[in-house]
Amino acid sequence: MLGWFRGRRARPDPLIEADRWRRVAVGLPWVAALDAERSARLSSLAARFLASKTITPVDGLELGDDQRCALAAVCCLPLLEFGVEGLHGWSELIVYPTAFRVERRHTDAGDIAELEVVHEGDDELIGEAWDYGPLVLSWADIQADIADPTAGFCVAAHEMAHKLDILDGAMDGTPPLPRAWQRAWARDFQREYDAFVEVVDAGTDTTIDPYAAQSPEEFFAVCTEYHFGAPDVLREAFPDVAAHLARFYGPSPLAAAA
Ligand SMILES: [Zn+2]
Repeated sequence: MLGWFRGRRARPDPLIEADRWRRVAVGLPWVAALDAERSARLSSLAARFLASKTITPVDGLELGDDQRCALAAVCCLPLLEFGVEGLHGWSELIVYPTAFRVERRHTDAGDIAELEVVHEGDDELIGEAWDYGPLVLSWADIQADIADPTAGFCVAAHEMAHKLDILDGAMDGTPPLPRAWQRAWARDFQREYDAFVEVVDAGTDTTIDPYAAQSPEEFFAVCTEYHFGAPDVLREAFPDVAAHLARFYGPSPLAAAA
């Protein structure tokens, strides 16, 4: 009786069909490089993502089940260590068909709002993307990231870093962490960020995208992208930040290949 009751109460964990997961993983370099254990963990996170988020393609974009699964997988990469709690606080992923990232990251106007070009004139959407509202991605940008996985761009991981950042109520470049680690994180990130801002302000070329000098939260999000795609570049530029991210996200899937 009790067993029946528990069985009824405990909702089974959502699962992604093994064949689908294999198909999707092959197409995502950061996922394909994971060992079996981490790949299985990511699959279960992605299943949670699909069960708990509405994915809304807009502007004529259509997404099949494999494509939705791929989106869930890249979004969950930063949650491999943090876990399913990293999905809290928002419920919708809006996917645009076209690229806005190139405009965003290579603009001369360094102080342009990050998502300003996502949907021109729609301030509400832009604002929402910053805190507890929908996550906004461009399908074309995701494809570009996949096509060149070691370039240090991974827009899905970037935006998920912002979602992790805001979980403690403050968008400041520090996600929720145990207290001692949070102190060390804040200290090390601030030091390497300040040094980077000085270099960028001096007009010196940098290996890391100068967009990271925009603010501490952009620094965290951009370094997150390098962690997944170009970990050696990150380690060279910001060794302490790289060490914190390797602990927070687990070792970069491309660590050996990079
Ligand atoms: Zn950002």
